[in-house]
Amino acid sequence: MTKNLLLWVGEQRNPVKKDRKSDLVMDSVINYYDDDHPQLSYSPGQLFLDSGAFTASMKGLALSVEKVVSVQEFLSPNKAIPLDYPFRTGMPISQMKRRWQKTASNIIYWQESTRLKGKLVPTLHAWDKRSLRRNVIWLQKKADADYVALGSLVDPNFTRYGGFFGDRQPQRELVDMLSLAIKSVQEYTDFKVHLMGFGSSPLMLHLGYYLGANSTDSSGYRRKAAFGKIILPGTGERYVGNTSASFGIHRPLFETTIEYDWRSSADISLLQRCSCPICQVNKDSLWVDWKSRAIHNEYVMKEEAKLARALLSAGTEAYESYLDNVVFAHSSLKYLWDYAKLRKKYLRISDVLF
Ligand SMILES: [Zn+2]
Repeated sequence: MTKNLLLWVGEQRNPVKKDRKSDLVMDSVINYYDDDHPQLSYSPGQLFLDSGAFTASMKGLALSVEKVVSVQEFLSPNKAIPLDYPFRTGMPISQMKRRWQKTASNIIYWQESTRLKGKLVPTLHAWDKRSLRRNVIWLQKKADADYVALGSLVDPNFTRYGGFFGDRQPQRELVDMLSLAIKSVQEYTDFKVHLMGFGSSPLMLHLGYYLGANSTDSSGYRRKAAFGKIILPGTGERYVGNTSASFGIHRPLFETTIEYDWRSSADISLLQRCSCPICQVNKDSLWVDWKSRAIHNEYVMKEEAKLARALLSAGTEAYESYLDNVVFAHSSLKYLWDYAKLRKKYLRISDVLF
């Protein structure tokens, strides 16, 4: 397994930080779609530009190919995703097939007719195991790229459970399709795998890296901050609200009916050890300022990625043991982790693909 795991930090028009020269930054065409002269309000070390397809699909909007190309060419990213057509629950297979055909023809169009050639990260979609194999092989033959992004990966039960679709519903089917897709890409192609949106929670980040993803992005760290949530190292997120409460273990940190057991001493000591630029100076601002929470969240996720790289350098077993004993030990997602281990160890492509 590669040790060079990438984490792209989500950023947008109203940036958390303007100076991003030392960061890999993920942004989306959707944030600039109506601009005649799109311009970044921060300076990235490297820029990865999404097409906005997923957001548009969720909102029921149709994006124009020309406009997406124009925004991408304007912003001149290091990596760009050609406009793709994700699946929605309830879609018949025939429609999914058509959407994949449009996705595939955009990949060719982006390669042949835009200035983004050589920077492309095409998206893989599949509606069952057979189409997964076929589409992976098509990408290997036709796509000029180093990375592929995993998009809608669904199986025939899609309408019942929602699939791997960006909503990250933590279900076994998600692990099934993800591990199968990653193994197929590894077996049939030279591409590395970008897993969209897995970098916003330590649990999902580690699950993605463990299953073999080479790269992910963390746009959700910012959304969580805006909704009053902070991420704790090695675990999930906690709601701190947006009030003027102070930090301290001598009194309740917040009063709410939300299920998180935030006042546990383990959580408090995790936060006390945080050495992000905010926590070092004034933890109180986590309670009152979303940008402080965003800076904290970003720092925590980068530290998790560093830890994953270090552990993987020591071998898969070291990583597994950390995930067993720390990350998932007391997590409500432990069943998912146990399942991921089984799939990683015992899944043979030849058993499920033909
Ligand atoms: Zn912090």
